[in-house]
Amino acid sequence: MIAITLPDGSVKQFKSETTPMGVAHSISEGFARNVISASFNGKTIETSTPLTKDGELVLYTWRDKKGKEAFWHSSAHILAQALEDLYPNIKLTIGPAIENGFYYDIDLVDNTISEKDLTTIENKMLEIARGKHTFSIRESSKADALGYYKEQGNQYKVELIKNLEEGTITFCDHDNFTDLCRGGHIPHTGMVKAIKLMSIAGAYWRGDENNKQLTRIYGVSFPKQKELKEYLALLEEAKKRDHRKLGKELELFTFSKKVGQGLPLWLPKGAALRERLENFLKKAQTKAGYEMVVSPHIGHKELYMTSGHYEKYGADSFQPIKTPNEGEEFLLKPMNCPHHCEIYNSKPWSYKDLPKRFAEFGTVYRYEQSGELHGLTRVRGFTQDDAHIFCTPDQLDQEFKNVIDLVLYVFGSLGFENFTAQVSLRDPDNPEKYIGSNENWDKAEKAILNATIEKGLDYVIEKGEAAFYGPKLDFMVKDALGRSWQLGTIQVDYNLPERFELEYKGSDNEHHRPVMIHRAPFGSMERFIAILLEHTGGNFPLWLMPEQVSILTLSEKYEKYAEKVLNVLENNEIRALVDNRSETIGKKIREAEMNKIPYMLILGDQEEVENSVSVRKHSQGDLGSMTAEAFSLLLNDEININKKEFIV
Ligand SMILES: [Zn+2]
Ligand SMILES: [Zn+2]
Repeated sequence: MIAITLPDGSVKQFKSETTPMGVAHSISEGFARNVISASFNGKTIETSTPLTKDGELVLYTWRDKKGKEAFWHSSAHILAQALEDLYPNIKLTIGPAIENGFYYDIDLVDNTISEKDLTTIENKMLEIARGKHTFSIRESSKADALGYYKEQGNQYKVELIKNLEEGTITFCDHDNFTDLCRGGHIPHTGMVKAIKLMSIAGAYWRGDENNKQLTRIYGVSFPKQKELKEYLALLEEAKKRDHRKLGKELELFTFSKKVGQGLPLWLPKGAALRERLENFLKKAQTKAGYEMVVSPHIGHKELYMTSGHYEKYGADSFQPIKTPNEGEEFLLKPMNCPHHCEIYNSKPWSYKDLPKRFAEFGTVYRYEQSGELHGLTRVRGFTQDDAHIFCTPDQLDQEFKNVIDLVLYVFGSLGFENFTAQVSLRDPDNPEKYIGSNENWDKAEKAILNATIEKGLDYVIEKGEAAFYGPKLDFMVKDALGRSWQLGTIQVDYNLPERFELEYKGSDNEHHRPVMIHRAPFGSMERFIAILLEHTGGNFPLWLMPEQVSILTLSEKYEKYAEKVLNVLENNEIRALVDNRSETIGKKIREAEMNKIPYMLILGDQEEVENSVSVRKHSQGDLGSMTAEAFSLLLNDEININKKEFIV
């Protein structure tokens, strides 16, 4: 008898050996049709691999990340086969699944491929897919594997195999095609029903620019035509919402080669937006018992040697700044934490003083390769909405809950409703990897889990994903286009208190180490605003809009009345501008719509006589006329629906 345990804990007994697909069929035929790949006892296997002993089986479908990975990995094989069929003397190198699809890097030798050839390749791939070829894994000795590729003159695969260990080398065969491969495929090629090759790019072998430049073909594939269509529509929408494009149109930020790549310049409207976000968080943080601190943009090299950041960022980041004093060196700060540790160290603390919560909108600098830079999401200088909480181990539980409340408040106020919490814990098999006592780790992990459950969060547990210095909780937020972003991190740290010898006097009169929590609900202002732009398409929640109302006059003679209306709005703390240019009202409305101004007030003869305003809402049109006071009340109601006060 073989006992197969499924993820829900149920156990299925089989008289003799079976396969993952066999298990799937025993569950239901409908389910079996959707099974894409499998893992057994944590190892990726084929759906046809014999199961000869007891163990834990996970079956993946298209809905699982692992399922998609197998699907796209298998699609990369189909792409490679199609390319070999069409261009027989090319050399294949590597072709992995990526976040959204797959690619294959090839040495074209003396062939050329351009965008216009992609449809031909797609059609060839679909023809192969329709053959419903099964994938099979075959073990090979190192010598045989080397021999196979040496004969083909494929120096890339030879190099790959040389780095593999004897006994770990496998090939994958399907139809008449063979590739070096670790395994993890869909049951047969016929599951791939829709393919789109997205682009061609150059890529150096092994990412090293001293090596030969290869040709990389990116593609994506789906089990249904409809899913491809939806994906392409989503891409189109994402292009429209690209924060780099919107940031320019809405005049929020810019970049200058003269200032330096990856160093954003905030324009007045963008700076005002940032300030509003900062003030919003500051207000909530003050209520939650945080105290603001300020630290400089640089710090002594030794500070970062103590913290360990020099070791981590030193070689690959901005290099030390020298002073006229021989041997004296400073670093641009890559993290605020060391500074905050020294703020904590500025005086002795008793357990009665804790927790201390130091918050700072601290700007940090990290050198990213220029190829890695991307708008506001990957930059070289950014401002974290940082805070560090220093508490006793017993306070961890409550502090964690408080931070979760704050993060949920932030998300709620900004329209992020769809998120999951990812709890990263120790790898139970490698306890020696972690700093801090077992007892403290148990306490911290329990505190995170308790808080997560008590707050009713949807969560996943990732064992082995904790940093060496402590467990953490990350919020994975889905935006309006269904894309996942990591926002809001809460991280326990046993390392820095040790390195900086932080202490407090306990009720036993002895010295103890406090626990440190790093947390940033936004993450960084730059990245957060980028995500917010793409999530809302620039239609921010009303309370955050740089300009909430545009007052449009029918002609210049209504200027006085417009000023009067503006006054009423300003007295009600509404941000508005008057557009009194001698342009047609149609043009003024179009421009206000383009600039995503939430409300337009149109003023002419009738409005002036009736002492009213005609209201238009962005992308919705006419809302009728009312007094400026009534409109202000309406607007403030709308603002307050989103932006509730933070209640501790
Ligand atoms: Zn493979
Ligand atoms: Zn920190």
